[in-house]
Amino acid sequence: MFDNLSDKLDKALHVLKGHGQITEINVAETLKEVRRALVDADVNYKIAKDFTARVKEKALGQNVLKSLKPGQLMVKLVKDELTELMGGDVAGVNLSGNPSVILMSGLQGSGKTTFSGKLANFLKNKKTKKPLLVACDVYRPAAIDQLHVVGEQINVEVFSDRGNEDPVAIAKAGVAHAKANGYNVVIIDTAGRLAVDEAMMTEIANIHKAVTPDETLFVVDSMTGQDAVNTAKAFNDVLNFDGVILTKLDGDTRGGAAISIKSVVNKPIKFIGTGEKMEAIDVFYPSRMADRILG
Ligand code: GDP
Repeated sequence: MFDNLSDKLDKALHVLKGHGQITEINVAETLKEVRRALVDADVNYKIAKDFTARVKEKALGQNVLKSLKPGQLMVKLVKDELTELMGGDVAGVNLSGNPSVILMSGLQGSGKTTFSGKLANFLKNKKTKKPLLVACDVYRPAAIDQLHVVGEQINVEVFSDRGNEDPVAIAKAGVAHAKANGYNVVIIDTAGRLAVDEAMMTEIANIHKAVTPDETLFVVDSMTGQDAVNTAKAFNDVLNFDGVILTKLDGDTRGGAAISIKSVVNKPIKFIGTGEKMEAIDVFYPSRMADRILG
């Protein structure tokens, strides 16, 4: 994951690691390299620049140059700042409702249906949760089929209403079905489009209004780089969502979305998708991700 970025950061910080004594010039050059590595990984230039400015400020504040192991301290400062940039603490999903309603949003192909299944499976394995999946993509019959296939794989019921063209009505009926049948979590999979468009935004906003979810999650393909961040912004403006799901981190992604999405929408990444299988889901731990990136 993020091999390219890890390599570049490692090279940038390597200079400092080797020095007993380091100079202000060493620090400045290293931070420039760090910034370049972040920008190459699709992190927005301003975010990368602010990042290195904060590390520099902390380095000055902690008198890094006079410390016993200046190189190691610098690496720690970069790691801490990277953790902070990605969200600081782990963020949970609100499951306090009965049933708790979780609404999935995102573009077509981002991984919503797959992730809906993964999350249902993840929660089902917690034993106290009995999830129901609801298929609200009324435009593509194949999407309803796909959710049913996923449901069968993980042994979770899927509520759908083929022929009904009103996603708001289906979402409401899904929640009612859950209440009547003892499900305590409802995961609503919605239709996406290939790009942000008004009809999609109006539709998801209407579903949101109708079911007042406990948790609204925005699913985004990490391979889409800076676009991921722009799409997140568009959805957040309409839905004020609670968290981000970053999918396809197993692919050849450069990592920019993971690093910068939090600072653009100020919402935490809650889970990551790391493959097509139902088990390929992980809780997102900012500090572990920072450790992974910095090796
Ligand atoms: P939706 O249109 O948003 O519902 O997206 P889908 O769930 O249908 O996913 C689109 C494609 O991405 C499918 O081929 C999935 O198997 C694949 N996919 C979803 N999540 C992941 C992931 O985390 N890693 C990989 N490699 N593929 C994924």
